[in-house]
Amino acid sequence: MIEIIQIPVLLDNYTYLIIDKESKVSGCIDPSVFGDVQKVLEERNIRLNFILNTHHHSDHVGGNIELKKKHDCKIIGNFFDQDRIPGIDIKLKENDTFKIGDSSFTIIETSGHTIGHICFYFKEQKILFSGDTVFSLGCGRIFEGTHEQMTNSILKIRSLPKETKIYCGHEYTESNANFAKHLNPNDSLLKKKISEIKRKRSESLPTIPCLLGEELKLNPFFRFDDKEYLESINLKNMSLVENFKRIRIMKDDF
Ligand SMILES: [Zn+2]
Repeated sequence: MIEIIQIPVLLDNYTYLIIDKESKVSGCIDPSVFGDVQKVLEERNIRLNFILNTHHHSDHVGGNIELKKKHDCKIIGNFFDQDRIPGIDIKLKENDTFKIGDSSFTIIETSGHTIGHICFYFKEQKILFSGDTVFSLGCGRIFEGTHEQMTNSILKIRSLPKETKIYCGHEYTESNANFAKHLNPNDSLLKKKISEIKRKRSESLPTIPCLLGEELKLNPFFRFDDKEYLESINLKNMSLVENFKRIRIMKDDF
């Protein structure tokens, strides 16, 4: 079992500390910066054992080298992205498993936002660290990969158990909700969700983690093959990739 500590950093990033409860072995998912992460590690008296990077963007790896110097921790990233993950030691591929103490996770390769993006899935606890692949009510921009890659990546995430908790890389929920509402203003479930989001944000509370089961019903980027939904947002049903691509382009222009 892992305990998760959520650290808001920079403007809207989330870095996560994970601690295996039995062994106290620790990991840090996507340390954007050194200072804010080190402060929490000191407060909690944690020596960091691992860093886990979902992708190479600087707001996800910015703290790698300083944390490694301070804690002599090992850095985990995608084998195929080893040239772009600063300080990488442990190079994993799709379906590889690795243990933080007694808590094991699997690599899910999710190219699209970047080529070589990976997610960390803790199957036993049904926890996914999704980086910039999916957010609550949204998904990452396609910077390096193709819409087809991103569609396949989302299909992989969609196939996980509905109870999966998603810990993503950014607090983008409110602006994503505005887009979802723009597409489908009369969705009563979405309206309810939006008032919950607004309440949380007004109290400076995170909207993350989100629940996969709820995302399947509300996130436009999970619904590219839902005929009723496509009809309600005036999109003709074409191929999965084509449907996804048109929703993504609408969001890019929103
Ligand atoms: Zn990114």
